[in-house]
Amino acid sequence: LSQTPTLEAAELERTFIAIKPDGVQRGLISEIIHRFERKGYKLVAIKLLIPSKEFAETHYDDLRGRPFFNGLCDFLSSGPVVAMVWEGQGVIKYGRKLIGATSPHNSEPGTIRGDLAISVGRNIIHGSDGPETAKAEIALWFKPEELVNYTSNAEKWLYEPS
Ligand code: UDP
Ligand code: MG
Repeated sequence: LSQTPTLEAAELERTFIAIKPDGVQRGLISEIIHRFERKGYKLVAIKLLIPSKEFAETHYDDLRGRPFFNGLCDFLSSGPVVAMVWEGQGVIKYGRKLIGATSPHNSEPGTIRGDLAISVGRNIIHGSDGPETAKAEIALWFKPEELVNYTSNAEKWLYEPS
């Protein structure tokens, strides 16, 4: 079985996606994973953990000083979170599209937040907002050996040969 990648390595980008405690408690883990999986993205890392408050503050470091920062970090560390890395062509930007706008009031129907959430502080999912944050967040949440490198059998049907 050929393991030759159908895509140039540089095009296979990775993003960090987390199902927040509200998504986990509401039984939306499989629903959320399903949406990334059926699009064609490849799961390369996944774990369930309860982040500490300090860890949550590091994750949301860029939002320090915002009025909702403390509540946000309290909430992220309040229960189990599903941390994942998804891989695919354009997954950082398009993953944000699948997730929808930050406030579910503005998220389009068809998006994860649009279909499944109501409040901005309970918007069930996090996704990296760009290549630099994706890199930093993957490194924060995962050890290198937790990222699983493999060829998905679907890739030759998802991508045209380069
Ligand atoms: N958030 C909030 N109130 C706000 C803005 C954001 O509670 O007015 C929360 C919301 O859960 C959001 C998170 O803070 O997902 C991080 O904010 P960011 O602007 O990075 O939004 P995201 O990247 O998650 O869409
Ligand atoms: Mg953000």
